[in-house]
Amino acid sequence: MPSDPTLQLALPVPLPQLFDYAPPEGHTPQSADIGRRLRVPFGKRELVGIVTAIGRNSGQQPLRPALGFLDPEPLLHGELWQSLQWLAGYLHAPLGEVLATALPTALRQGEPLPDTALYGWYLSDGGQQALAHMRQGRPRQLAEYLATQPGITERLLDEHQPGWRPAIRTLEKRGQVERHIINAPPPATPANSCVLNTEQRSAAEAICKAEGFQPFLLDGVTGSGKTEVYLEAIAACLARGQQALVLVPEIGLTPQMLSRFQRRLGVEIHALHSGLSDGERAHVWAAAWRGQARVIVGTRSSVFVPLPKAGLIIVDEEHDGSYKQFDGIRYHARDFALVRAKALNIPVVLGSATPSLETLANARQGRFERLRLTQRAAGASSPTVRVMDIRKRPLQAGLSPEALQAIGDALAAGGQALVFKNRRGYAPSLLCHDCGWSASCPRCSTESHVSAMTVHHHGRRLQCHHCGQRRSSPPACPACGGLALQPQGNGTERIEEYLAEAFADFPVIRIDRSSTQGRDALQKHFDSLAREPGILVGTQMLAKGHDLPNLTLVVVVGIDEGLYSADFRSTEKLAQLLIQVAGRAGRASKPGQVLLQTHHPEHPLLQTLIHGGYHAFAEAELSEREAAGFPPFAYLALLRAEDKQAERPMAFLQHARQLVEAGLDSPSLPFHGAANVLGFSGPVPAPHPRRAGYQRAQLLISASQRKPLHQALARLLPQLYALPEARKVRWSLDIDPLDLH
Ligand code: ADP
Ligand code: ZN
Ligand code: ZN
Repeated sequence: MPSDPTLQLALPVPLPQLFDYAPPEGHTPQSADIGRRLRVPFGKRELVGIVTAIGRNSGQQPLRPALGFLDPEPLLHGELWQSLQWLAGYLHAPLGEVLATALPTALRQGEPLPDTALYGWYLSDGGQQALAHMRQGRPRQLAEYLATQPGITERLLDEHQPGWRPAIRTLEKRGQVERHIINAPPPATPANSCVLNTEQRSAAEAICKAEGFQPFLLDGVTGSGKTEVYLEAIAACLARGQQALVLVPEIGLTPQMLSRFQRRLGVEIHALHSGLSDGERAHVWAAAWRGQARVIVGTRSSVFVPLPKAGLIIVDEEHDGSYKQFDGIRYHARDFALVRAKALNIPVVLGSATPSLETLANARQGRFERLRLTQRAAGASSPTVRVMDIRKRPLQAGLSPEALQAIGDALAAGGQALVFKNRRGYAPSLLCHDCGWSASCPRCSTESHVSAMTVHHHGRRLQCHHCGQRRSSPPACPACGGLALQPQGNGTERIEEYLAEAFADFPVIRIDRSSTQGRDALQKHFDSLAREPGILVGTQMLAKGHDLPNLTLVVVVGIDEGLYSADFRSTEKLAQLLIQVAGRAGRASKPGQVLLQTHHPEHPLLQTLIHGGYHAFAEAELSEREAAGFPPFAYLALLRAEDKQAERPMAFLQHARQLVEAGLDSPSLPFHGAANVLGFSGPVPAPHPRRAGYQRAQLLISASQRKPLHQALARLLPQLYALPEARKVRWSLDIDPLDLH
């Protein structure tokens, strides 16, 4: 029966097409099936797909039947479903892979949508009667507690009676307790944290007054109280009975931040971050799906939560690079948040002290309403910044005598010092002083490009920061057998080692990706220092929104590498980093001081930043980008390819370029005849031409308008998938790439 109704599915496989299946036995396909999860056979495996359409089998062969639906109703529908389909189109990525990225792992793998009802425990009648005669012990203790707190929720039991589950099981077996679904407890009384100042108040009012889609840029200096503005706007959103989604960088999501939200808003805050189990993530997603989760605070992938009662989206530190996914489906959470807010017809707030140039350009063109907070909130003044010329100065672990003196003074006055060096490990390389040999990664180096291995563990180990390979340091030079191996330059470990010796009476705490793993590690580091005098040494992990009231001095050790980088975004990133690190100093009553060590004190970037601030820098940088034809005045797509065989990636990309160029001549395209509407750069070897044994190359395509670029890509992709080489090399397409490597 060739014209039987069929189900069309998106499956989580790296193939561009959708797949047709016969319905499960006894089921008649209907439009209400769209968005439901369906288990299907695929080759020898079973996969979970999402129904995208109802069709008819036009082929000669009968289709394989699907095995069964996983949900009684569509899991994806309405705005989220529309937005995800838009995203797949925008990224030119397979819909099945986009959906797999958007769904929590447990749901993608076919687990049922978790039960998010609230359960409370009561003593049964039997329990009441038995209470007086129970033996001493944990069950009795818990029963007595339940007698005073009937219907207490499991979440509160976790909090107030840790380890309550075995005891309740004992009581349950004896029929002495009962579990019932209860209504959500009334929200706790929100606590007003502080009185907003005039700028905060007018920013909050503008957001609260907004009706429908309205993007805001909350442009506020570090410590200006942006979080208080968010909280005010979220409170108003909750009062209207709506949901709020808050995106934060991974490092910003601390228990302290969550409890600040909880206290101020009085409702449960649903956090989503990489430290949760699959089950916990699915639980938050389900609670959002049902509209029960009122405030969701999460990192990048939280941008995919369903918001049936959406009222507000906030993207904190919107300039942060962690919002862009660097592999798989390369979405940008901030940009997708804007798309969703538009589809949901709600306001969206992008907050930062150092807005991205993309966002500033949008504000300049009037697409975003700009709200400014120009003063530090808690009465603190902005830190003073001094550029320190270290040419010809004697350095100890990279630190000048003046910097060491300033650290000593800060400690003596009872304050804390932060020493910033954006380089983890002990030293960036290991060199033989006798013959010139240096330790390089055999899997990442080529004949013309040496990829150095970083020295770790006080010189004992070597690690490649590109591919992750580790080995122990050689005892003698492998080339000449000499014993003159010397670590070159300074990483955070070496600076820590030096400071611990120089300031032996004070704690020295290192904060970088090697020392700070696991979700609470960062907070534990800060807690261990508390308000006592001491030194923090670290990488950009230290740059992000932490309030350290007793921090009075920031020393920036090495930034010169960033001043002359080839990547067009590197100056923007450096400026943001400097302003954010400097912003850690003097956030409370004590004034802050920042020392910037450099060999290039006259560099225009530093001069503009010091004398004009971030916005003067940004204006100058925007003009340069415009003149050079770079984003935000151009649109980029980066096609990457890699393979163990050296010539394959270049050949594949060459072919891709030819296909695009041939397409430009096609009369069917609206920009036919405009020969230079697209610009090409490459294919060329990638800036890191080899990683983990794979040879890498890239082709950059640019256009002054978005539309022709996307039309050309939409044409190219099916042709690319059809190339025989496309199955041999690993390749990927990055729309709006942040890094060109
Ligand atoms: P930002 O997010 O802009 O860096 P925060 O919202 O974290 O700043 O505020 C910085 C500090 O100032 C916090 O300790 C906060 O409690 C305090 N603060 C914010 N607004 C006010 C205000 N209106 N009055 C007093 N203190 C404030
Ligand atoms: Zn040697
Ligand atoms: Zn390597």
